[in-house]
Amino acid sequence: MANSDPNCLFCKIVSGDIPADIVYRNEHVLAFRDINPAAPQHLLIIPLKHIASLNDLVGDEDTIIAGQIMQAAKVVAKEAGIGESGYRLVFNTGPDSLQSVFHIHGHLIGGERMGWPPFPGASVEHG
Ligand code: 5GP
Ligand code: ZN
Repeated sequence: MANSDPNCLFCKIVSGDIPADIVYRNEHVLAFRDINPAAPQHLLIIPLKHIASLNDLVGDEDTIIAGQIMQAAKVVAKEAGIGESGYRLVFNTGPDSLQSVFHIHGHLIGGERMGWPPFPGASVEHG
């Protein structure tokens, strides 16, 4: 599989063809601010390699990439000041989830108290 898709928005952010507010980069992943934030902190963590969604993770290399996204989430959350207050890492996958960009990305969201469960009309405070 090619590492990059010329028609993919997030591959263009990886290459620098489309600008983004990048907050973290290493040899495996990139993190940048969501253009339409849903929370005080809303960052997207993506692999440099084009993988369309969770459904397209294949083999050991992609398993490692999935772990690299999570390892980066921990670092990015800490740098964003939400490592201790708490955050969610959300991977929308497929139509019901409203996934709109088909380059796998973790939404790292936090900075305010959230509700649970995360369904329309079902939000409750608990704990
Ligand atoms: P999805 O709906 O696929 O789970 O999430 C895609 C996210 O990408 C959305 O939250 C959307 O606001 C964000 N997004 C879409 N286009 C751009 C862009 O050009 N730049 C940035 N930084 N975020 C984008
Ligand atoms: Zn891509």
